[in-house]
Amino acid sequence: MSNSILKRINNCLRLGLGAIPQSCVLCAALGCRDGLCRACNSSLTTIAYTHCPRCALPTDGNLCGACLKTPPEFDSVTAAFIYAFPTDALIQSLKYHANLAITCVLAEKLIEAAPGSVGADFFLPVPLAREKQRERGFNQAHEIAKILGSYYGVPVEANLCGRVRNTLSQTSLPWSERTKNIRGAFSCTHDLTGKKIILVDDVLTTGATLNELAKTLRKQGAAEIRAWVVVRTLPM
Ligand SMILES: [Zn+2]
Ligand SMILES: [Zn+2]
Repeated sequence: MSNSILKRINNCLRLGLGAIPQSCVLCAALGCRDGLCRACNSSLTTIAYTHCPRCALPTDGNLCGACLKTPPEFDSVTAAFIYAFPTDALIQSLKYHANLAITCVLAEKLIEAAPGSVGADFFLPVPLAREKQRERGFNQAHEIAKILGSYYGVPVEANLCGRVRNTLSQTSLPWSERTKNIRGAFSCTHDLTGKKIILVDDVLTTGATLNELAKTLRKQGAAEIRAWVVVRTLPM
């Protein structure tokens, strides 16, 4: 990682996310500023694998069967990690233990995996269901997007789209039912004609949520919709 990335990530830490020294999420070493000790951080390498350019599932580099059959509403997915240990522990620490310091590490890895130039009008974090956001107190996608926005100097639009329908938790449902569950969940009334948008989320599983959100944005005229996710779950 270049010094300039480190410097800017450090700036984001100074914004307060990692202000309180704490123990490393992975090895419990004390005194880490961003929730991860230096050794664990440098052992977290983004996984390079050939994948479907559209949905990031491992392939020989061509489109996967699912994307060929039913092309998703989004144009491409960039993922920093495959969902496995130890990345799953980082995501869980962020989501379920409100360890916001970890967002800096996750955003940093996403920056490493992403192309150098962003070429988008704004980042759009995937909105959480209202109840879930109230319960958790924050939206992890928004926290990550804020760091990306400040790093690239690209605006973050967190209120452009609303989640109008409270859906069942996607994780509680079998994969086959997730598309139906999320249908009609988002609303957007802004004119997005010609806009290039990068959706931000922590985990991509079936892609049903991203697809539904992208569909909503397309209806408003969005020209290009890419997605940046920290981890890509693979089908079992
Ligand atoms: Zn550690
Ligand atoms: Zn695909």
